[in-house]
Amino acid sequence: MSISSKWNRRSFLGGLGVAASSLFGARKLSAWPGAPPAREEKWPDLVKVTGFGSTGNVYEELGVAPLINGQGTMTMLGGSLIPAEVETVMGYAAQHFVSIPELEVAAGKKIAEMLKLPAGYTGLVTSGAAGAMTCGYAGVLTGDNEEFIKRLPDLTGMKSEVIIQKSHRYPFDHQIRATGVKLVEIETREDLRNAISPRTAMLHFTNYLNDEGQIKVDEWVKLSRQYKLPCFNDAAADTPPISRLWDYVNMGYDLVAFSGGKDIRGPQCAGLLLGREDLIHYALLNNSPYEDTIGRGQKIGKEEIVGMVKALELFLASDQKAMLELYWSQLDTVSHEVTKIPGVSTAYHYDPNQIANNTVGMDIYWDPRRISLSSEDALEELRKGKPSIVMVGGRHGDGLGLTPWQLKPGEEKIIARRVSEILRAHRASS
Ligand SMILES: *Cc1c(COP(=O)(O)O)cnc(C)c1O
Repeated sequence: MSISSKWNRRSFLGGLGVAASSLFGARKLSAWPGAPPAREEKWPDLVKVTGFGSTGNVYEELGVAPLINGQGTMTMLGGSLIPAEVETVMGYAAQHFVSIPELEVAAGKKIAEMLKLPAGYTGLVTSGAAGAMTCGYAGVLTGDNEEFIKRLPDLTGMKSEVIIQKSHRYPFDHQIRATGVKLVEIETREDLRNAISPRTAMLHFTNYLNDEGQIKVDEWVKLSRQYKLPCFNDAAADTPPISRLWDYVNMGYDLVAFSGGKDIRGPQCAGLLLGREDLIHYALLNNSPYEDTIGRGQKIGKEEIVGMVKALELFLASDQKAMLELYWSQLDTVSHEVTKIPGVSTAYHYDPNQIANNTVGMDIYWDPRRISLSSEDALEELRKGKPSIVMVGGRHGDGLGLTPWQLKPGEEKIIARRVSEILRAHRASS
């Protein structure tokens, strides 16, 4: 099958995807399903982009350099790259009107089935984990009371406090405070008991900070049961491992949030709220598409809802062991190249029990007597080079850190070459 006949079968969004694949070079056309989109009218046979986008390099047309991402699933860098199949399915979604609330409920049900959540639990596709927090908390506060939903963040008539361990405060608690609640900080079990009052709406747990607090993830949910209060776990960046998707619901958490646009590789503007059916229903009532709600600004489109379902299906079927092997081999490639330079060493790291951003990485260090270069300068040179590469500083002293999980196959060779060039250029003269 020629490329142009594939193009004939592409939907509009799919067509953009093909263009993107030529831009980034790594995506194989064979990975694209050949089936024509399911629709009645015939789509234009060839979706030819004219004007903006016609080069296939939308970023460079705007004067913005695409990056090689050796850092990780950063919202600041665009999260992750959605697989071609997800893009295609989003294109199918773009071709019809649909009732968004009906679609949300159906997608949530499908997600709950895919994750084998217990009876009485469902899912909601949100604008991200942050959006899941705001609508999830709003729902706990308002229930299905229309007046309350319109009133937020004025909490008159509602509960007004959320309890959080002091060490679990983090930038995303802004999404909880946005509902109008006050965060009550506690440290000990006794503090918790004393903090609970008729004003308490929920207990919040920040999963990646599990080790920092005195009360751990399993005990937090038990205490919430004991005090008959619902509890929320923000596990946004905590997949892989895949099992995390059901672990916390099975532990008893009433609501759990995940990012869709991190390593699940769903649409960048998508996330998951999993939890009790009643609370998920209330969360949706507080969110877009409903107007006069606190969540109206966190719109989630039909394309993202459907794309999230597909991304989750692919993520559940993914071979995480094989992916780790790929990442290790990418690190090996870089290590092999840069350690040819006298005074340069590498150190791999991987903690299989790490909670957030659980993946492999490598640091590159150099002997300052042989190479005179700070981390900052090395990072800046990588960033300013062509292609532009984003990495992080080393964990210990001057060095570079590389996380390969968002690299496209082959990009490790570019990194190996550029890092070597930069290190060689800074060899100390004596
Ligand atoms: C990334 C992240 C979020 C926000 O997730 P989005 O999907 O980008 O909205 C919230 N909490 C934690 C712990 C995160 O890592």
